[in-house]
Amino acid sequence: MKKEEKKVEKRVEKKKEAVLCPVYQKCGGCQLLHMDYARQLKWKRDQAGKLLEPYGKVEEIIGMEDPLHYRCKVHAVFGRDRKGNIISGIYQTGTHRIVPVENCLLENTKADAIIGTIRGLLKSFKIKVYDEDTNYGLLRHVLIRTGYATGQIMVVLVLRSPILPSKNNFVKALLKEHPEISTVVINVNDRKTSMVLGDRQQVIYGSGYIEDELCGMRFKVSPKAFYQVNPVQAGKLYKKAITYAGLTGKECVLDAYCGTGTIGMIAAPHAKQVIGVELNREAVKDAIAGAKKNQLSNIRFYQADAGDFAVDMAREGGKVDVVLMDPPRSGSSEKFLEALRTLRPKKIVYVSCNAETLARDLKFLCNNGYQLKKAAAVDMFPYTDDIEMVCFLAN
Ligand code: SAH
Repeated sequence: MKKEEKKVEKRVEKKKEAVLCPVYQKCGGCQLLHMDYARQLKWKRDQAGKLLEPYGKVEEIIGMEDPLHYRCKVHAVFGRDRKGNIISGIYQTGTHRIVPVENCLLENTKADAIIGTIRGLLKSFKIKVYDEDTNYGLLRHVLIRTGYATGQIMVVLVLRSPILPSKNNFVKALLKEHPEISTVVINVNDRKTSMVLGDRQQVIYGSGYIEDELCGMRFKVSPKAFYQVNPVQAGKLYKKAITYAGLTGKECVLDAYCGTGTIGMIAAPHAKQVIGVELNREAVKDAIAGAKKNQLSNIRFYQADAGDFAVDMAREGGKVDVVLMDPPRSGSSEKFLEALRTLRPKKIVYVSCNAETLARDLKFLCNNGYQLKKAAAVDMFPYTDDIEMVCFLAN
């Protein structure tokens, strides 16, 4: 392509992006908005191939049929613009400047509508938005989680101090506009921090959690527990992970970094026994409640660092046939990987949301007797450059 033509194409793409999303450039969240969806999938498949093909076979990428508005967890930060108007939206990449967002292409539309309603209610309820510089004001963030299959909606109001003036009337006004809301929680975050949620919580309407369903299992999700933001694709990811594990009903399975216990619970009917380990206490409580709800008697959850837990297990001569692991972006700890050398599970299914740490951990495992048998990318985050991968290793 000639230089001039390339320039024109770039200009057309820029226009397209601006039409699709007015804050595209300031937000920086949709790195792939300039590509149509088929091209995004090809790009991600190629990236996964580059990373994994030196080790083994990579299957076709698993894409989304309808790749918009998939985010069931929506976070909005509240503040004021230069003119003093209340705004809500997201932090501009790498800064603490708020980019106002009303309708995001990726976020659940109901969640965005609820955030808009809250913005509108603040003035009449005399609720001040928080100002990071002066540490003054009350409302810092709103977090909304929606159950994809159940339609349940949780609204978390993150406040600097625990008192919300006329809280009952506020909830009433919110429910009048959105009767579909199932629960409202106040979370208190009085620290100068970029973490959204603080430690203290108070339920002011409903049960304080939502439930969702995936792969025939029902899960409890509390405000602070990890739950995949794209449940449609999470279902496909879990299915792939379970297929890779090839369970026959005789295996002892370790679900490491298990969150609310999703993967382990889906595996449990096909295994002899499942052990889940997770650091976040709220997530572990949700996992235990979920196992009860799903009437699973062969699964146990433990709150611990996955590395410490696996080391103890190895020291006590514990037996594990299959390890399902889904660590955070920082990847697995050395401790955990070292313990796997002793535990020597026949199969490892590694779910990763970060190519760099996956590459590091794969190298370790492949240097220690494992082989990558199969792998696939699953598009959990269309329009962004995040790539989720699931790998099957055996020794
Ligand atoms: N498998 C789950 C959660 C994956 S996200 C799902 O699909 O929903 C990664 C999880 O690892 C989070 O729940 C996080 O709280 C947990 N985690 C982070 N560091 C950990 C550690 N050192 N030990 C155990 N769990 C950890």
